[in-house]
Amino acid sequence: MKIAILSRNPRLYSTRRLVEAGTQRGHEVTVFDTLHCYMNINSVEPSMHYQGNELKDYDAVIPRIGASITFYGTAVLRQFEMMGVYPLNESVAISRSRDKLRSMQLMSRKGIGLPVTGFAHSPDDIPDLIAMVGGAPLVIKLLEGTQGIGVVLAETRKAAESVIEAFMGLKANIMVQEFIQEAGGADIRCFVVGDRVVAAMKRQAADGEFRSNLHRGGSASLIKITPDERATAVRAARTMGLNVAGVDILRSNHGPVVMEVNSSPGIQGIEEATGIDVANKIIMFIEKNARANHTRTRGQG
Ligand code: ADP
Repeated sequence: MKIAILSRNPRLYSTRRLVEAGTQRGHEVTVFDTLHCYMNINSVEPSMHYQGNELKDYDAVIPRIGASITFYGTAVLRQFEMMGVYPLNESVAISRSRDKLRSMQLMSRKGIGLPVTGFAHSPDDIPDLIAMVGGAPLVIKLLEGTQGIGVVLAETRKAAESVIEAFMGLKANIMVQEFIQEAGGADIRCFVVGDRVVAAMKRQAADGEFRSNLHRGGSASLIKITPDERATAVRAARTMGLNVAGVDILRSNHGPVVMEVNSSPGIQGIEEATGIDVANKIIMFIEKNARANHTRTRGQG
């Protein structure tokens, strides 16, 4: 097969591993810098171009689109979809998953376990918003945050009020969430490929920290997850319409709750913590599922 990878940097671990796994399985794999792809949008034959060449006859495209280039990246992916190329994850699903609030609304509609979460626009409603999620301690999150930056634990009601007021004053979009204390500073990253969790790792926050992000000093280890956690992760990915997803789960005393569904999950952390060849699983999924014009949305929406 001819496989294109959309990635800003061919030297990134995830990109390198996908090239390696694809090549090993006999495919022709090429990395294209997403921001250097350009497109001819017309109703007869939409096309994709790169460094003066037209990209033709690709069977599949693997999007590795960072949050900061979602707008242009999903447009490039959509163009591939319009050309009939099979996307590992569809552009619509990626856009959907980049909106934390929308993602939570979609998952709530499907009855997937979630932390009790509140969202408001007006500062007048702060006291009620705090009461609604069960009072302090609670977690306040910037909707646009990543790698744990913009996630704040407010231990008292007064602290929560001040932080929410400050964020609202800056016109930042935030959500307010019950603090899952019983998770003990740990979360579980489930790596979903198709309808299976192919690898799972536990991330434990550093001492005195509640955020388990590896960028915040957390450490990762292999974990055996329960059937309930497995089902929750797979349903969360399916609800978002993602074939490949990193689903982050907290163990709460009301069962597994989904914090986030990531559409370009990193491969390094999970491969190192579990020893599982995740890149190979992704390539095998593509082999099984890639067919021309085989997308749910074909770039619609
Ligand atoms: P980001 O997308 O920036 O990584 P997250 O929402 O994943 O932000 O939060 C970062 C970390 O903070 C999580 O990995 C988890 O360890 C911790 N955390 C987030 N929300 C909660 C919560 N409601 N209760 C307990 N811990 C939480």
